[in-house]
Amino acid sequence: MMTSKLLQFPEKVSLGFFPTPVVKLARLTNYLKGPEIWVKRDDLTGLALGGNKTRKLEYILAHALAKGCDTVITAGAAQSNHCRQTAAACAQLNLDCHLVLGGKPPAEVNGNLLLDKLFGATIHWAGVHRKGEDIPKILEQLKAQGKNPYVVPYGGSNEMGAYGFVAATQELSMQMDVSKLSHIVFASSSGGTHAGLMLGKEVYKHEYQLLGINIDKSESEPDAYADSVLVLANNMAGYFSNDLVFTRDDLVLSDDYLAGGYGVVGTAEKEAISLVASLEGILLDPVYTGRAMAGLIDMIRTQKLSKDDKVLFWHTGGAPALFEYSHQLI
Ligand SMILES: *Cc1c(COP(=O)(O)O)cnc(C)c1O
Repeated sequence: MMTSKLLQFPEKVSLGFFPTPVVKLARLTNYLKGPEIWVKRDDLTGLALGGNKTRKLEYILAHALAKGCDTVITAGAAQSNHCRQTAAACAQLNLDCHLVLGGKPPAEVNGNLLLDKLFGATIHWAGVHRKGEDIPKILEQLKAQGKNPYVVPYGGSNEMGAYGFVAATQELSMQMDVSKLSHIVFASSSGGTHAGLMLGKEVYKHEYQLLGINIDKSESEPDAYADSVLVLANNMAGYFSNDLVFTRDDLVLSDDYLAGGYGVVGTAEKEAISLVASLEGILLDPVYTGRAMAGLIDMIRTQKLSKDDKVLFWHTGGAPALFEYSHQLI
């Protein structure tokens, strides 16, 4: 029996419009002839074209403001949705924003990168270092300039960020009868969403299975990502309960849909994006939600999910990257 502590969330700053809608995807359900499919529209969080990072940034940037910081540094790929939402939030909150992006300056600026620039972020190109390896160096430079910088980790996936998805679990349960849900399917990549949803499920005592679709597996350290989600979930568990401990069995993370690697669009992603756009008028993205939806479609076709199930697809956003991938999508 889990003994709950008094639920206390940290301070947050309002950046989005919540609750995001929950709707049934009737035409997609009909087309696939499998379980009922519902969607949680976190692509509509309202901050600068939306996405799951808005929920994390509400807690993380409240912490930055409380510490009196004037500058934010974070990192990601050139088409990072996390960086775009961070840049927009910084504009709103009057914080300088420094983005450490993988790759080199492209010939044509498009998608999320275009938006980063419109929000006034300073871009540092980091070559192969797309996960914040260069942040310490830039942190020192900014301090030497007299700035008071705050580091937001890659993907906003720390304890503060993951709170956003504990709160999101509560939000969902006020919108629908979650006891009727069999699965929640979502893209899992830096871990904050996954850890927050795991914790939310236990804290609010829900029965559905969380099915994370791994987007970005390291070939050199294949277990590193799952381990990091577990560490994050367990670090947070102590805030909510005296005896809640997650083990590797509590973490469902599918490695079946990694295809060509991070950010590589294949036929499965392409089909998922086209299907959901043409049947539902909803945009998925080429890197995360297109891949996660391709996983869901495959699990339906291979009967890992059946007509008796009721599945919620957590749409984590990402559509601005579609424009960068335009040549590969049609
Ligand atoms: C960042 C991101 C994810 C993954 O969320 P994590 O919390 O980093 O695992 C999924 N979808 C989109 C569109 C994202 O930008």
